Amino acid sequence: MIKQVMTDERVQAGLAFIEADHDRAIEEQKEIVLVEAPTFHEENRAADYARRLTELGLVDVHIDPFGNVLGRRPGKGQGPVVLLEAHLDTVFPFGTNVTPVEKDGRTYAPGICDDTRGLAANLSVIRALDHAGIETQGDIIFAGTTREEGMGGMSGMRDLLQSHPEIAATISIDGAGVDSIVYQATGIRNYSVTYQGPGGHAYGAFGLPSPIHAAARAVTLLGDIRPPATPKTTFTVSLIEGGHQIHAIAQQAVFKINMRSDDGAELDRFEAMAIAAFEQGAALENARWGREEVTVSYEKILDVPAGTQPADSVIVQAAWQATEALGITPRLSAGGCTNTNMPVSMGIPAVALGRGGKEGGIHSLGEWFDPTGTYRCPQKSFLLLIALAGLHGVTQPLIAPRVQA
Ligand SMILES: [Zn+2]
Repeated sequence: MIKQVMTDERVQAGLAFIEADHDRAIEEQKEIVLVEAPTFHEENRAADYARRLTELGLVDVHIDPFGNVLGRRPGKGQGPVVLLEAHLDTVFPFGTNVTPVEKDGRTYAPGICDDTRGLAANLSVIRALDHAGIETQGDIIFAGTTREEGMGGMSGMRDLLQSHPEIAATISIDGAGVDSIVYQATGIRNYSVTYQGPGGHAYGAFGLPSPIHAAARAVTLLGDIRPPATPKTTFTVSLIEGGHQIHAIAQQAVFKINMRSDDGAELDRFEAMAIAAFEQGAALENARWGREEVTVSYEKILDVPAGTQPADSVIVQAAWQATEALGITPRLSAGGCTNTNMPVSMGIPAVALGRGGKEGGIHSLGEWFDPTGTYRCPQKSFLLLIALAGLHGVTQPLIAPRVQA
């Protein structure tokens, strides 16, 4: 499917253009990284990206009610609408020094890769499509999405897809490497669990059940659960706090737990066991002292759906071939927590492809990027977009339209 696209002269010209456009894309990456965009506060970067999409001639460029930036490159009609996106947000708070520093062939700046590189690479794809005069059958939507990281839980992508039911396939640019293809969706559930009791003097009120002891009992029960290795299912109690005074029986203890699974049903099963453990912690503590005075409450604070699609599905195979066509050995990632979770859980064909280049220190102040050969990331997106949307008059779209216009 990719081979036929590759035989077209315009496609070859577009690929050559992207290689020649490398330095410009890197410069844009260093400009975009300066526009700070902590998760839930992406407004400035969204405005900056909207301006760039407008300058590149996309139509209907706008910031949607969810903060996402979208622009459309119209196709010839009757084709599938395909999305190419990267996320706007970074894990760094306002005030972080994000000025790029060059050292030993690397560019250091918090957020320089994740996902600024994806945003910049996608701009290069737009220029190449125009430079080469590519006419696709379906429309292509280019987007910068909000709330991918942390407690954002990929909700920007969810909102974008729910408000655009016409999108028939998605490509996300995120993650390291030029070879990686993420096609599975590892689900996430986070809970905050709170134990409360009357509290009292450590000596004088001895005999009262303790919220800290109850939390510890629950954590011990959780720690003994053995989830299956396949589908990979994981958990950790990642935060814990409680008490206010060393000479007091605590009034409160809180812990937070992160649970993940490559399979939604398995995640449901684990979640049910975890909730039983939350409750049992309080029950055991109260039983120990013979007093029903510790209570437990819990709240689901993040829910990212799981999902999967066959490794031999059209989009995964096309991504594989596009990667190979550029002389790279593709690598199918096991699991994945990317914006691709949302389309995959909704049954929309989707892949997340690596940003290219070399990178390290992701999510740390020491984040760095080595751009050597990174133009192959936008080249791959370029090929895959054309194949999915169809090259007008040359190849049929690989994906069917989701909603007939
Ligand atoms: Zn990312």
